[in-house]
Amino acid sequence: MTTPPDALVAAPHDALYIAGEWRPAATGDTIPVVDPATEEVIAHVPAGTAADVDAAVRAARAALPGWAATPPEDRAARIAAIRDGLTARADEIAATVTAELGAPPKIAAAVHAALPARVAASYADLAATYPFVEKVGNSTVYAEPVGVVGAITPWNYPLHQIVAKAAPALAAGCAIVLKPAEDTPLTAQLFAEVVHDAGLPPGVFNLVTGLGPVAGQALAEHDGVDLVSFTGSTAVGRRIGAVAGAAVKRVALELGGKSASVILPGADLARAVNVGVANVMSNSGQTCSAWTRMLVHTDQYDEAVALAATAAAKYGERIGPVVSAAQRDRVRGYIERGVAEGARLVAGGPDAPRERGYYVRPTVFADVTPDMTIAQEEIFGPVLSILRYEDESDAEAIANGTEYGLAGAVWAGSDEEAAAFARRLHTGQVDINGGAFNPLAPFGGYKRSGVGRELGTHGLTEYLQTKSLQF
Ligand code: NAP
Ligand code: MG
Repeated sequence: MTTPPDALVAAPHDALYIAGEWRPAATGDTIPVVDPATEEVIAHVPAGTAADVDAAVRAARAALPGWAATPPEDRAARIAAIRDGLTARADEIAATVTAELGAPPKIAAAVHAALPARVAASYADLAATYPFVEKVGNSTVYAEPVGVVGAITPWNYPLHQIVAKAAPALAAGCAIVLKPAEDTPLTAQLFAEVVHDAGLPPGVFNLVTGLGPVAGQALAEHDGVDLVSFTGSTAVGRRIGAVAGAAVKRVALELGGKSASVILPGADLARAVNVGVANVMSNSGQTCSAWTRMLVHTDQYDEAVALAATAAAKYGERIGPVVSAAQRDRVRGYIERGVAEGARLVAGGPDAPRERGYYVRPTVFADVTPDMTIAQEEIFGPVLSILRYEDESDAEAIANGTEYGLAGAVWAGSDEEAAAFARRLHTGQVDINGGAFNPLAPFGGYKRSGVGRELGTHGLTEYLQTKSLQF
């Protein structure tokens, strides 16, 4: 007998993970977890409140001195054990992400389960090799943990977003309280199990599931939190930044994007368009760094639009749902807005492709102008806007003409030409002629896309503060 795939979905805990054990929340309130492909409630998890956050922060504070004093090689060994746990449970992780996010099994395995293990591996290495002590003239400079981290994460890459904060925080010697997205708490509970099995001292990692404006806000405001690390919308990030600023608390903000893929005339047009469409449709468009604007020279515009329409049509059956009914309604609203503002639909549209599930049709708009809402606001759905440019300086102005600056792509006849143009973009990452994602490269935004960097050495230093001793 074969095991049905949903038997792999992590069994929900009706408790919070605090001080090394699963504990009941202060109230009996719960949050339903919905499978976006079926619209069925598949689990309930506790809705933690300020009292639970307080208990978790106290546990983290109590654990902090011991973990901070643990030699980096020993911290590295525990992170390596987390990496091994993530690798061993990859099938469960993938099934759980499919169940609560709706990611198709292939991307769930290849991205949602595999990437966090790579990121954990990178921090097992960095914890062991990073120079936490340096000589500068007559000074000895120590990189010390910033303290207790309040981590608030979104649902779009549920495990990656958690590991991109927890792994560097642990490597730095910080203790953590995590408030994951309400839509994807099962993946977070699975991660807590992995941390537990990795033998971390009680209280070093704590999980409080709950609602953003309740548990999330309590965590951001808590006096016992030294650094708030947030990934999510710019609207919430702005508020968290204000709260942290008022308390003179460190803050890292990983926010939205409206990234441009700029196709210069010498590029391989078909490849640039096909990879560009795939980039937007992947994860049903729910990627903060997605290249949701494609910029094409006026001479190649019609050809690019035709290629994009054909490419998008192929995603009709393959694409997963978006995460929730609210997100589906939001995305459809943007598609209707695009039509109303005069953009031309060449693939997809606002109508529902299936009777059940929060599906949105893979959508491509042509004749999009920079002032349109769909060219300015983050949609977070499978929607591509194709804009026309006249020359390079026009392309540069359009690419830089949003409040965001997270990522982007440049395609040209040579890497040198593409890289020269990329240096003119006001954005934290640019992929040159389809360059691959690098989990060691700093990831983060210019402008309203955020403050700080995640991943690799830059991600580690977010969780450190420095002390100089003069001799
Ligand atoms: P969000 O509301 O910003 O959620 C991100 C995280 O913050 C979640 O854990 C959320 O909890 C929490 N949160 C919400 N309100 C809070 C508050 N007042 N204080 C502290 N924490 C709070 O994002 P969303 O509602 O999930 O998605 C809305 C839009 O944000 C998306 O359509 C997209 O444009 C953008 N987004 C960007 C990214 C990214 O990677 N940059 C990721 C996700 C979403 P709840 O889950 O309970 O709301
Ligand atoms: Mg929300």
